[in-house]
Amino acid sequence: MDQNRFLGKTVMVTGAGSGLGAAVFKRFLLEGANVIGVDLSEDSMARFRDRNSVLSGQITLKVADVGDPDAIEAIINESVEELGALDVLVNNAGIAPTGPAATTSNELWRSVMKVNVDGLFYATRAALPHLIQSQGNIVNTASVSGIGADYNYAAYDASKGAVINFTRSVAVDYAQRGVRCNAVAPGPVLTPLLQKNLDSTAGLKEAFGRSIPLGRIAAPEEIAPAFTFLASSDASYINGHILAADGGVTAWN
Ligand code: NAD
Repeated sequence: MDQNRFLGKTVMVTGAGSGLGAAVFKRFLLEGANVIGVDLSEDSMARFRDRNSVLSGQITLKVADVGDPDAIEAIINESVEELGALDVLVNNAGIAPTGPAATTSNELWRSVMKVNVDGLFYATRAALPHLIQSQGNIVNTASVSGIGADYNYAAYDASKGAVINFTRSVAVDYAQRGVRCNAVAPGPVLTPLLQKNLDSTAGLKEAFGRSIPLGRIAAPEEIAPAFTFLASSDASYINGHILAADGGVTAWN
């Protein structure tokens, strides 16, 4: 790991209070960035800061719902005022309630779209002027569920498909203005979100084991380096790419 890779760079990670977002937040910190964590939950971010107090000089925490366009725009503008620039935006906040199409309520469908798709759009729109200024980039959290469909996740599958094509759209529209946009598509990652589904569905863990060529669910720390790679100058010619970090799930026919 290069501890200076993001020295002097400012990175915003949404959904930073838990799971994958917390691991991505920490990885950027360890690679030298000043990191702004955004989450609904103030408590989980404060716990994260306490666990990483040695790096606290590099940490800024903001509480916002990414599905609230005014709130996320205000936080992005305020962060740039405080820290001078925004170099990388990681759109990671997401929810994944289960259910097939016929029994998905309007409320469940809207709640998933509000966070996973609307939130991604609102944060991206607010960040782009700053990223053009800094010649920065965006890394989105997609999922293998947006490449193929996961069983029993109708709204989530649709939302992650949207994340993937929005990533490409931004990549195409903003490359000429110096902004790259890529996504990481993780397979199953052991986070509180997945743990809840493992606890409520007997045999799911074993089924995942059988369907992942590497034979196990990932730790969040195994996925985080894919984010820092895509955000770094090592990926300067990579734009509009969906990097599967999935133990081989999408390689398997
Ligand atoms: P998690 O529930 O552990 O963490 C998600 C975090 O996002 C939480 O801290 C939550 O408070 C925050 N959040 C939720 N809604 C928000 C909102 N409206 N505004 C701001 N913050 C909000 O989940 P996770 O597994 O770490 O998931 C993170 C991302 O990774 C999601 O986009 C998810 O779809 C994606 N993903 C997860 C897996 C997996 O197996 N865990 C696999 C592929 C993709």
